[in-house]
Amino acid sequence: MKPQARAKLLAILETLYPEPRSELDFSNEYELLIAVMLSAQCTDKKVNQVTPELFGKYPSLKRLAGARVEDVAAIIRPINYYKTKSANIVATAQRITEEYRGTVPKTHEELTSLPGVGRKTANVVLGETGAVPSLPVDTHVFRVSNRLGLSSGKTPEAVERDLCAIFKPSEWRNLHHRFIFHGRRVCKARNPDCALCELRRICPSQASDTA
Ligand code: SF4
Repeated sequence: MKPQARAKLLAILETLYPEPRSELDFSNEYELLIAVMLSAQCTDKKVNQVTPELFGKYPSLKRLAGARVEDVAAIIRPINYYKTKSANIVATAQRITEEYRGTVPKTHEELTSLPGVGRKTANVVLGETGAVPSLPVDTHVFRVSNRLGLSSGKTPEAVERDLCAIFKPSEWRNLHHRFIFHGRRVCKARNPDCALCELRRICPSQASDTA
């Protein structure tokens, strides 16, 4: 991508989405990790519906580590894969309490060693806390990047590599959130709103999508 086009894309996104942020509700690293784990294959809206009760009953990793899995499952029941996720978040809380003195680990390797924490979850947590610059690729980032011609990668890892080569580490976090905003609001999986999209003049997919 030419520097001019790159700058233009960033400028348009900044104007469209001046406050890039996660749409998950959380107030500390513990809540961030658990909310991101719950959000796999599930909408942020649904996660935000169950976390007030979950974090109210278990306000720390230590408290969650001592929870009964079935009690947690009852709270997060509306979440997809709630049985597996309840077992994973309790096991993860136990591991962090025992091995990391109750503090969420700050490296990719440590995070991905935890039950139910994959590459994307680790990337989101590290990027959001600022521990390690990260550009997590979820379904929205994947789709928007492909349509904008920033990557032809067939896997999230391949798209992540391409994006990280184009953009500076200091730009990764905001770009991640802005692509998610754009993917949710405009560049939807089905029927993207190309006619109304502010990126249409620099998007190679625009013509075919509006045809
Ligand atoms: S022009 Fe269409 S395909 Fe391109 S980014 Fe906008 S909505 Fe997505």
